[in-house]
Amino acid sequence: MNDSEAEYQKAQIELGQAINSLRALAGKEPIPFSVPDPSQMPEPPICSFCGKGSNQVKRVIAGHSANICNECVLLAVDILELDQN
Ligand SMILES: [Zn+2]
Repeated sequence: MNDSEAEYQKAQIELGQAINSLRALAGKEPIPFSVPDPSQMPEPPICSFCGKGSNQVKRVIAGHSANICNECVLLAVDILELDQN
């Protein structure tokens, strides 16, 4: 876990505690809240082109809505080079 993830988790806990202290003031039952389990965190990115995960290729480069692995980058370069000939 990096610093920003730790900060985020701390903020989630504080927010949950704040909500429940407000609910206690209003005489309401606390809402159960939990910090996300690291094992439930999103999987590392998989290549949007070939579907391989970062454990199957050297590198998966993550984009905004798609990812590409080093193998597909090389394949794409080959295709572009073929186009030029
Ligand atoms: Zn790929």
